[in-house]
Amino acid sequence: MPELAYLNGEFLPIDKALVPIEDRGYQFGDAVYEFIASYNGRLFYLEEHLDRLDRSLKGLSFPPVSRETLRKAVLTLFEKAEIQRAGIYIQISRGVSPRNHAFPDGVHPQIVMTIREIEEKPPELRKNGAAAITVEDIRWGRCDLKTVQLLPNVLAKQKALAAGVFDAIFVSPEGVVREGTSSNICIVADGVVITHPLTPQILPGITRMVVIDLCRELNIPVSERFFKTDALYGSEEAFLTGTVTEVLPIVTIDGHRIGDSQVGPVTTRLFEALRQRSVA
Ligand code: PMP
Repeated sequence: MPELAYLNGEFLPIDKALVPIEDRGYQFGDAVYEFIASYNGRLFYLEEHLDRLDRSLKGLSFPPVSRETLRKAVLTLFEKAEIQRAGIYIQISRGVSPRNHAFPDGVHPQIVMTIREIEEKPPELRKNGAAAITVEDIRWGRCDLKTVQLLPNVLAKQKALAAGVFDAIFVSPEGVVREGTSSNICIVADGVVITHPLTPQILPGITRMVVIDLCRELNIPVSERFFKTDALYGSEEAFLTGTVTEVLPIVTIDGHRIGDSQVGPVTTRLFEALRQRSVA
């Protein structure tokens, strides 16, 4: 079960995969990424992740990157590593060039990937639910593009950990609840699952999409609309969605108890349905 890297066509140990210091991803955050998980040796929603990667590349006006090359690299890496529950990280930077803000001519996107075993969330966290805090969303206006510029997310996550909670939820200055530091957020109010609509202010999460689909399949009413912190604090249930997070119950936010501070039935149903789909 080796951890492995892919670097522009080559497969090698992660610690041997090095990028030049003038990579624009390193100097400008001029790079996009994806994170894909597998369950029992099968990649989960690979094509949807490749679609989103393509969208991020186009959003930053990168030159075209062959989808076939990417798919083949992902599948070969996955095959070579033989990790059943794998996390594949893909990063594509605009290229390597002497530092200059303007797009350089004649450079090629640099493609790197790593594959590692996914560290599962502690079972107590899934069973008892997690606590979170809200933080002001100070990110840029294109959070729908999956770029490596994650400093606000890094600082918010660290603030959550320093406060002794699991994660931080970004909230606009007007109080609109956006998403977690590496997940989308849903609440349940009057039995309806509510999540932020797809706008440039949030990442179009693949798990969010799957959860909406599962709601429809399970006849759970679902609505993509804005909601504010008062609705969050007063919700019956709240949960995060993400590739690694899956469906994770949040039972306390900013010290407010959500519902009765227990993991709710809708969250449990959706988590189980998601796991079901991963083996289907
Ligand atoms: N929002 C942000 C900011 C994220 O980093 C992630 C994780 N990639 C998500 C949402 C969830 O997206 P997905 O379900 O595709 O993992």
